[in-house]
Amino acid sequence: MTPRPPAQLIDRFGRVVDYLRISITDRCDFRCVYCMAEDMTFLPRAQILSLEEIYVIAQAFTELGVKKIRITGGEPLVRKDALSLLNNIGQLDGLKELVITTNGSQLDTMSAALKAAGVKRINISLDTLDAAKFKVITRTGDLQKVLDGIQAAKSTGFERIKINAVILKDRNHDEVCDLVQFAVDNGIDISFIEEMPLGVVSKHDRSEAYYSSFMIKQDLAQRFNLIASMEKTGGPSNYFTVADTQTRVGFISPHSENFCSTCNRVRLTVEGRLLLCLGNEHSVDLKAVLREHPNDTKVLKQTIINAMQIKPEKHEFNIHEQPVILRYMNMTGG
Ligand code: SAM
Ligand code: SF4
Repeated sequence: MTPRPPAQLIDRFGRVVDYLRISITDRCDFRCVYCMAEDMTFLPRAQILSLEEIYVIAQAFTELGVKKIRITGGEPLVRKDALSLLNNIGQLDGLKELVITTNGSQLDTMSAALKAAGVKRINISLDTLDAAKFKVITRTGDLQKVLDGIQAAKSTGFERIKINAVILKDRNHDEVCDLVQFAVDNGIDISFIEEMPLGVVSKHDRSEAYYSSFMIKQDLAQRFNLIASMEKTGGPSNYFTVADTQTRVGFISPHSENFCSTCNRVRLTVEGRLLLCLGNEHSVDLKAVLREHPNDTKVLKQTIINAMQIKPEKHEFNIHEQPVILRYMNMTGG
């Protein structure tokens, strides 16, 4: 008998989906102006997946060929028992990479435990090096605590640490060079992200605050020699290396450079919705399937396989119009 080929999730456009991002909470200790409204209502407990349910779904995905899982949120490290979930997911057969995106506020105490749980790489959000601006952008955050968290992550020795910076015109666009210098000085990477129109925000007009990757590159060219890299990390980032350093600079440009043709990912919201695309509402309710068939992961797996048929070809973001996507990034698993 010929051995069965390994399972794979493939969509209508021939794209193989081997990457799952899981939002394990919609809650957060920050209220970043581009991510949340100031006065957020969070989901009631009954509406969110339990940690056990998240694990069962993660396991189903790895059995269907998913090799990389990113734990995100909201702020994933504010969910109670996040570490035990990470530990369990880290041991799933077939999983090659367990990674996390965090705002860094808990890393000073949790870094070592994250590494022990099997987390290999870590993305930390940092939009500014100015404490006052940090407070304005995050509404509640303490810059020093995040900087301490970054140092703790460095000492822990993850394979790779990357800063994520969302750049907004007239808020932090003047800091792009300083942020790259910070990455160089710390021997870590950095990605710049164009703001995406998810949910209605009150503090700024997204169209007016748009600062493109192209403009960031022009600013960086004044101070750094960026060498284009052919490297792809399986994500939407286009990478450059800062000459004579280890630091890579990535650009995630949903508006100026569409990256959908190579999309390899889907997202699980904390409500148990499987989102097939960040910029569309096509989704399947995995929580309902799981709760209807608690002891039968075959139905769950078949639902996931079928869901690939509704994965859209590309996102439909337009920052010049009112957002069509009313869910916020913290609900989405950014
Ligand atoms: N709380 C964690 C953090 O901030 O890193 C993880 C969740 S957060 C939603 C994940 C990433 O999404 C962060 O790097 C954040 O800057 C980014 N983000 C949030 N809202 C965004 C938006 N509207 N457009 C682009 N990026 C956004
Ligand atoms: Fe929280 Fe991250 Fe959203 Fe900021 S970007 S409010 S840290 S979930």
